[in-house]
Amino acid sequence: MELTDRVAIVTGSARGIGQAIALKLAEVGADVVVNDIEAAADSLESVAAEIRAMNRQSLAVTADVSSSDDVARLVETAASTFGRVDILVNNAGVTRDQLIMRMSDEDWDTVLNIDLKSAFLCTRAVLRYMLKQRWGRIVSIASVVGIIGNSGQANYASAKAGVIGLTRSIAKEVGSRGITANAIAPGFIETRMTEQLDEKQRQELLQRIPLGCLGSPRDVAEAVVFLASEEAKYITGQVLNVDGGMAGA
Ligand code: NAP
Repeated sequence: MELTDRVAIVTGSARGIGQAIALKLAEVGADVVVNDIEAAADSLESVAAEIRAMNRQSLAVTADVSSSDDVARLVETAASTFGRVDILVNNAGVTRDQLIMRMSDEDWDTVLNIDLKSAFLCTRAVLRYMLKQRWGRIVSIASVVGIIGNSGQANYASAKAGVIGLTRSIAKEVGSRGITANAIAPGFIETRMTEQLDEKQRQELLQRIPLGCLGSPRDVAEAVVFLASEEAKYITGQVLNVDGGMAGA
């Protein structure tokens, strides 16, 4: 699989899964615009430097992807620097867990805006370029929780289920223009998002994963690269679970 000279934007790529995706895309030849919020600017610049050390081009753009203006600036900067936008990976996401009876309006809105609205804003902005190019790959990181639900995560599960609906709709709207849209539904992956689990929670979780371990960011990145590749040109509107068998079990 190779993506030589393709231009990718990966949101929320200063750390975790997004960082692994950005590095893997560069490894197979893509130039990568990495993005994260202002507070993560230093780590983001390190990811861009790591990509440049791989002899690929990279640009670090801080932007809050839940803001329409920031997203416009992010995508315009990418397009004016590289002349095209081939791949969008909607990865930025947050959790604000709480039982629904105690969930505040703010926790609902924050998660819906950063995990779902961002995917809509970024997709709308990149489509302008992809439609002209008649080639594009949109890969959005959903979650197994968006498929099976999770106690304490009504906001997050709703946002991730929304990402799946958005993906299937985009696939239908722009399929005739050589643009595919797919989602990946990771299970539990070793990142900052899962490091708060205590030992008891971790053991209970492992009972529910047929492959018996948490996944790594790299496991998700491999699936993204496949869906972004030429080889995946006849796959669209799909959700690929990268969850150790969890959702099917
Ligand atoms: P992470 O380590 O917290 O990384 C998420 C990144 O997104 C962080 O760098 C974060 O920046 C950034 N971000 C947050 N708000 C943003 C905004 N408004 N604009 C731009 N960037 C923003 O989490 P992760 O585990 O790698 O998760 C990546 C994606 O995978 C998320 O969509 C998540 O929902 C999904 N996922 C994760 C798991 C898992 O087990 N880890 C499972 C299923 C799905 P700051 O940290 O500086 O806030």
